[in-house]
Amino acid sequence: MPKVNIDLLKRLCETPGIPGREERVRALIQSEVAGLFDEIRTDAMGNLICTRKATKVEKKGKGNDNGLGRATRVLFLCHMDEIGFYVKGIDDQGFIRLNAAGGFDTRNLFSRRVLVCTDGGDLPGVMNPGGRPVHIASEEDKKKIPEVKEFFVDLGMKPDKVRKNVKIGDYVVMNEPAMQMGDKFVSKAMDNRVACWIGIESVRAIVEKKAAHACDLTVVFTVQEEVGLRGAHTASFGVEPDIAIGIDVTLACDTPGVPTDEMITKHGSGCGLHIMDSSFIADYRLINELEAVAKKNKIPAQRTILARGGQDGAAGQQARTGARAAGIVVGTRYIHTVTEMVDLVDLAAARDLLAAWAPTVK
Ligand SMILES: [Zn+2]
Repeated sequence: MPKVNIDLLKRLCETPGIPGREERVRALIQSEVAGLFDEIRTDAMGNLICTRKATKVEKKGKGNDNGLGRATRVLFLCHMDEIGFYVKGIDDQGFIRLNAAGGFDTRNLFSRRVLVCTDGGDLPGVMNPGGRPVHIASEEDKKKIPEVKEFFVDLGMKPDKVRKNVKIGDYVVMNEPAMQMGDKFVSKAMDNRVACWIGIESVRAIVEKKAAHACDLTVVFTVQEEVGLRGAHTASFGVEPDIAIGIDVTLACDTPGVPTDEMITKHGSGCGLHIMDSSFIADYRLINELEAVAKKNKIPAQRTILARGGQDGAAGQQARTGARAAGIVVGTRYIHTVTEMVDLVDLAAARDLLAAWAPTVK
């Protein structure tokens, strides 16, 4: 078993933070990264931008041997938001109606424990779609897959008390403990606290190994990825990277009911070298470089392509006049459910590969 900081992963996963309300996750990360970076700041949208300046100069003739006349700027993009809901309204009986922030599969939303996050604190609730219980449901009712707008949250309070505590714009997350089981780690928010963890732990590994690097390394913990890479767009514009790495989950369909040619990634076979999705195509030379570093350091890695979906690497690639970009991903079973599962070997591989690769950038 690889050595993994499980305590940090659990705290990251259990901290609520949906698109536009990432502040609690950001505060946790901010306290974790103290001492790892030279500059830490939060921009107007809420992206947390952490930069570690080059610690050596790659000399050949004068200055850096990269033709730029300055240190190469490397950017890791790690989104902080998880999918969740905003409170859209409270009905006469005190039931809370919802607006989704991110792509939910409603088949996985029945009978969930949730937290309603308000200014006065987090309130436990249960979420269900409207309709009859099985005993009195018609055959027609049983086949129906409800839409998000049919779900509601029951706080178990009288309507006036709900109205006193909750307002439109408060937010709702799933309430499930994160846990290690066997070789895996399971949480409702592996997407994408896994990347927050990798962003912190890969830099921690560089610092602890005292690995010198010629690049300026910036890790941005981004906002609003699940609703369209929004934070990554503005943050990348500001950082103006030469190389951008989008760190995220991808699918691991190595489970029953999916043909092997649609597996995407296989658990335990290493971190994913993300070659393309519908938002970007990675720089093939960069993929080759990452793969060579993985081989040299005996870090397991697998090439992977996602037919649909997007990730922050696209925003890094397309900022200003463009950057070389790739994705480092962790195969996740049961994605966008409360049982998102990663393999600890794959997670450690993503950390180790980035920690080994960044110091090789000229
Ligand atoms: Zn994601």
